[in-house]
Amino acid sequence: KFSLAMKRPLSQIQFNINTNRQRHVEGPRPREISIEIQRKTLPINRVKRRLLMEIEKAETVILLGETGCGKTTQIPQYLLERKLNRDGIIGITQPRRVAAVTVANRVAVEMKTSTGQAVGYTVRFEDATSPLTKIKYLTDGMLLREAMSDNLLKAYNFIILDEAHERTIHTDVLFGIVKEAQAKRKSSNCTPLKIIVMSATMDVDHFSKYFNDAPVIYIEGRQYPVEINHAVESQDDYIYSCLVTIFQINREAPPNHDILVFLTGQEEIETMTANIRAIAKDPLFSGPNIKVYPLYAALAASKQLEVFHSPPPNTRKVVLSTNIAETSVTISGIKYVIDSGMVKHRVHHPGTGLDVLKVHSISQAQAWQRAGRAGRESPGFTFRAYTKSEFDCMVKNTVPELLRSNLSNVVLQLLALKVNALTFDFLDKPPKDLILEAFDQLKQLGAIDNFDDAQLTPLGQKMSLFPLDPRFSKVLLEAEKFGCVEEILSIVALLSGESVFVNNIAKREEAAAAREKFSTSAGDHITLLKIFRAYNSINTKHAWCYENFFNSRNLDYAKKVRKQLSDLCRRCDIQIKSCNQDFDKVRKCLISGFFMNMAELQRDKKYLTVGSKQLVHIHPTSVLSGSLPQVVLFTELVQTSKCYMRYLTPIDSLWADEIKSKGPTISGFSQVD
Ligand code: ADP
Ligand code: MG
Repeated sequence: KFSLAMKRPLSQIQFNINTNRQRHVEGPRPREISIEIQRKTLPINRVKRRLLMEIEKAETVILLGETGCGKTTQIPQYLLERKLNRDGIIGITQPRRVAAVTVANRVAVEMKTSTGQAVGYTVRFEDATSPLTKIKYLTDGMLLREAMSDNLLKAYNFIILDEAHERTIHTDVLFGIVKEAQAKRKSSNCTPLKIIVMSATMDVDHFSKYFNDAPVIYIEGRQYPVEINHAVESQDDYIYSCLVTIFQINREAPPNHDILVFLTGQEEIETMTANIRAIAKDPLFSGPNIKVYPLYAALAASKQLEVFHSPPPNTRKVVLSTNIAETSVTISGIKYVIDSGMVKHRVHHPGTGLDVLKVHSISQAQAWQRAGRAGRESPGFTFRAYTKSEFDCMVKNTVPELLRSNLSNVVLQLLALKVNALTFDFLDKPPKDLILEAFDQLKQLGAIDNFDDAQLTPLGQKMSLFPLDPRFSKVLLEAEKFGCVEEILSIVALLSGESVFVNNIAKREEAAAAREKFSTSAGDHITLLKIFRAYNSINTKHAWCYENFFNSRNLDYAKKVRKQLSDLCRRCDIQIKSCNQDFDKVRKCLISGFFMNMAELQRDKKYLTVGSKQLVHIHPTSVLSGSLPQVVLFTELVQTSKCYMRYLTPIDSLWADEIKSKGPTISGFSQVD
């Protein structure tokens, strides 16, 4: 009867779920306690004195504490209360935008002020700080940008590198940057720079050694036992398994026990949200009401905060989250964790120099982190949508992003800091091949002239100013020559966020029909542009998006991004002109950055990438799906069962030659036709 996405009846149990009501105290949700008491009862408050003593003594301190013990929200406030920062800013990096925003908002509430005053945040394309700001949460990428204009980071007296265990590319690079800034400030008698590295997992010796044997402080957290349940049989569809498990728990557990489900991305989360809502409306549905709270990076800030609120009476809260909820944000009331065992990661795609977005297995360390979320306030339960032997086969620790990604952006940013990636003091050095490939790509893009002196060209210098993949920066900078900066700005902005299309399984045909109105054989980039133009010309944006199955949140985000990028263009003296309907200019302009990312139709109707000869396919959501253009350019790769090119533009092979002959920078393009 549960028709939506339900392949089998609910009674077919994956797990031997035994929520065992007797073991829980049933009762109302705990009353909201005052913020002062909440702060006082955090585990970190118990070690406050010792902690501050250590921080005063040492240049660098490593702090290890279970998620939720108060590291991110409390430490900066402690430092400020004691005026340890003197007059400088306390900067706290976060690997994710969503965490920087929610935490800054939370701390502003705790300090009885509003965000942007004493507490603020800076994330890509958004700045909520003022000259009054003393506690500044910022993404690791933003601090790296700031280091480009001041490599001693003089505005800061404290840099806190938070979520160090996540080992994102930017945090990894920052380790080296702040270490050097600290040493330089010391030797030149500037105000000292204090560094605090915070992590939620055990492997801290590595950090300590790197920072000249910095002291490690352990904070004992509150962790109640969590019962781990594995799937009895291997699951072929983790989304379906998670969905079934939600409803099984819902039937048996008291309504004030909330559920946290780990999924991989926005689209998946939104689809499941719609499915749960549809099933919950079914007359056969049994159990307490469910309220679904999605949580992912691209979610609007106000929506992100909803997840911290209590649901209505007699309603179960079901949070569907990406790995954000693993360590970056803590949600109260969670008693059950459902772990899909999957995560969406960027991994390096050899040959094309692009990273592939790929859903793959988490590490064991991540599995334990996820499970731990169920035992924050009382004993909890975790249901893993994978078997025990599948768990045993997972890698122990996640491989740091730096060791598995395209490095052209990092190498470019380091060069802007006058640092050569080949000799940089990395915590873990990336493979030399990856670094050399990045240099090669930058050379092809015209950002450097040769490898040896590792100097940015004037073009490279400009490219480093944009918070974009170097290929996109190049396209934007070249757009002036083609007279289509207006259009390229929109396209780059649209590609900087999540998809503007709503994936509505129940109304798939209607959605396709609505989309059809904007589709053009000129490809996905031009289609996106047409949608964006229509969106901007309409007054009733929300209704229009709803009717046409567009995601208004993501379109609105693109608008904000576009504004920031056009400000940057103005600062670089780039003339912002439009090519109106002459879309060929836009398509040609894309080649100037993406000449390495083209694929050519073969006799057997398959596509091979130009140069590296990798087998790739047109993504089924592309407007070009079903047609067979001779040469296509793509700006993204997605790996599911096959390697798909997403966002495609058909290219006239003569154009490639034309653009190729314009400058010496284009190579790697094999003979077409
Ligand atoms: P840590 O960094 O050690 O993981 P945090 O400082 O982020 O811990 O969180 C400490 C506590 O503050 C959490 O246990 C949570 O209860 C509370 N908290 C954090 N952010 C929010 C928020 N946005 N709204 C409500 N409570 C929050
Ligand atoms: Mg934290």
